[in-house]
Amino acid sequence: MKDSENLVVPAPVLPTLPIVGTDRRFPVRRIYCIGRNYVAHVREMGGDETRDFPLIFQKPLDAIVQDGGVVPYPPKTNNFHFELELMVAMKSGGYNIPEGDALSHVFGYGICLDMTRRTLLDTPDGPRIPWELKKAFDHSAPCGPIHPVEQVGHPTSGRIRLEVDGEARQDSDLSLLIWRVPEIIATLSNYYSLEPGDIIMTGTPDGVGPVMPGNVMVGSIDGLGTLTITVGEQAVAGAPVPHRLSA
Ligand code: MN
Repeated sequence: MKDSENLVVPAPVLPTLPIVGTDRRFPVRRIYCIGRNYVAHVREMGGDETRDFPLIFQKPLDAIVQDGGVVPYPPKTNNFHFELELMVAMKSGGYNIPEGDALSHVFGYGICLDMTRRTLLDTPDGPRIPWELKKAFDHSAPCGPIHPVEQVGHPTSGRIRLEVDGEARQDSDLSLLIWRVPEIIATLSNYYSLEPGDIIMTGTPDGVGPVMPGNVMVGSIDGLGTLTITVGEQAVAGAPVPHRLSA
């Protein structure tokens, strides 16, 4: 009997993302995220223009929600924020990737949302609050389909825009990224071996704000289509929230 047939609970289903123009799918291995990567967003969060070392964190794989899906309002917050971001999907990697080689490891690009519990109930805010609780929770990583590099190249500029119920909330341009994609890949690879299937959320522009159950978020980036996500009701106490992973 193989180890994979000898399990005492069901094995988790690894998430995959659709690839535009084909019925093949992209298997996700890890979700890396970069924070504070547009000056106007750094400022609205109370900081100042900076080229300080980028803020790096991860989200759990089963936080992925597919395009068209529902994100239940999470527990322990009344300040649940959207952050629309450019997503990079890796086809290869390794440690210590030179910046000049970084783009050769990219499979494609897409649109994602870094859903955030901006403030937490019953937990005092401050530097000691675990970042994990604000960023790495269930359903916190809606991800759209991936556009292969062969179709879209390596976008370095273009409008990035989020509407909530038809009203513009974020409206910026990819050219305003502080840490650009090759720098992000090179820096991450100094600390982690990047591998096929890794995706990177590259940070959000300004205009972040709260959503409530029933709101519909539509994100778009020039050349990368749209991502549509609905905010659902908060999970009933004691009931597991259904996962929305594709097989
Ligand atoms: Mn973010």
